[in-house]
Amino acid sequence: MAEKTKQAEAARGTKIVATIGARAEDPAHLRALLSAGVDVVRINSAHAKPGEILRRVALVRDLEKEMGRPVGVLLDLGGPKIRVGPVEEGTLEWKSGQKVEIVPGSVRGAEGRISVTYPALLKDVRAGDEIRINDGRLRIRIDAVSRASLSGTVLTGGKFRGGAGVNFPHSILSAPALTAKDKRDLEEGLQAGIDLVGLSFVRTAAHVRDLRKRMQHLPSHRRPWIVAKIERPEAVANLTEIAFEADVMMVARGDLGVEIGLSSVPRVQREIVAMGRRLATPVIVATQMLESMIENASPTRAEVSDVSFAVHDGADAVMLSGETAVGSYPVEAVRTMAEIARTAEIPSPDEAGGPAGPSGEDVATVIANAACLAADQIRADRVVVYTMSGWTARLVAKNSSTIPVIAFTPFEEVRRKMTIIRDVTSFVVPEVGSVEEIIQAGDAVLMRQPGLPGATIVEIAGVLNVEGAANSIRVRKLGEAPTARLPRRPARGRRGAGERARPEGPG
Ligand code: PEP
Repeated sequence: MAEKTKQAEAARGTKIVATIGARAEDPAHLRALLSAGVDVVRINSAHAKPGEILRRVALVRDLEKEMGRPVGVLLDLGGPKIRVGPVEEGTLEWKSGQKVEIVPGSVRGAEGRISVTYPALLKDVRAGDEIRINDGRLRIRIDAVSRASLSGTVLTGGKFRGGAGVNFPHSILSAPALTAKDKRDLEEGLQAGIDLVGLSFVRTAAHVRDLRKRMQHLPSHRRPWIVAKIERPEAVANLTEIAFEADVMMVARGDLGVEIGLSSVPRVQREIVAMGRRLATPVIVATQMLESMIENASPTRAEVSDVSFAVHDGADAVMLSGETAVGSYPVEAVRTMAEIARTAEIPSPDEAGGPAGPSGEDVATVIANAACLAADQIRADRVVVYTMSGWTARLVAKNSSTIPVIAFTPFEEVRRKMTIIRDVTSFVVPEVGSVEEIIQAGDAVLMRQPGLPGATIVEIAGVLNVEGAANSIRVRKLGEAPTARLPRRPARGRRGAGERARPEGPG
């Protein structure tokens, strides 16, 4: 198993996001998770106390040096999560058919009356809407809205605790996307140097723009990429504009499942992954991917299929939540994820990439598409990009299904952001001298990578110091003068199902 995992690790393109909990403050624990293959560490700010984000990011940075590779940090802002207020004796049980009353605020609930921590409750919820409590286990139909409360009928009963989550699948909520705690956590995160910031309960692209405005004071390479968490029906309805505006999307299947119904989640997941490919927006698939590994050393068959299909469909990253934050087998969960991803990445005979990116008029998109077409046709070993913002890497990674991408950037911060993009390995090259001098510095790095000297590369470069200005493609052999003639490659035949296009070497 250990040797197999090591091999799987060598060529895995899909990235692994792992949520860390309190015990990750022990460097040995975090080191073990990173060594097992975590690419991006997720800090769930809903539970973060002041100072915690700074401490945890600092620890990741220390270990990152030890690992000798970039590790991204995703600060996931809790957003306006709505909860049941306190209830008598901690728990209540409502029976199907029971008449109940719900008030806004945080007053103690008892029997058929509870409070819900949402000030705009009486304004946003209408008669006929449904309210779901405790991960959707209880369903209540609202019969009437008065000036003081909602009255309803329990459709599906059950027990719940004070503090249980509440969802409003049919209501249009007016809550702002960021709470006061989110704003404080964001400040701390920016100070700590996070790479990605998760925006919960996004409903429109305007929410993404608002968050970006809050970070406008930072130079663009230091501004974290915004991860729009798709978990509300409004976000699904506004998917195109959100995918266009966000840097990354997350299929947040926990709340999404409650909001749109579990059976709709797989279809919407595939829609989001496909939209991500069209607009070159990386996609993370999250929640309950290896849930049973919270308690067991191995996953269920259904979980393995779930991860495998997410990877096969083109997700950039798969995410672990409770499995790594509180589970009994965190390292095993990461190794299992890595092995499933690696296996799922083996292309089927008829699979190929294809044009990706937002518009045929954008030069960087056209260049990326042309470079990938060339790389695919000549069966290049690597596509190499030089990027200021990571955008060209996103375009290329979405396009090519089988050829690994190497991205060079002058910024350590951009390198860390690119940890979320599938199939991308990145390096920093200093931004000194002419484009040719920078490419020479890149070549020196490539020549040190096992298996790369002599490799055929398709290289995309642009105008120095300008974001999104990729404007040239060159095909050459590493270590030979750019003018050297490339040997003819054998015509491309159909690959066998088990045969992988990737050469040996870092993926
Ligand atoms: C989710 O709902 O699936 C999710 C990832 O968000 P959170 O863990 O913040 O509820």
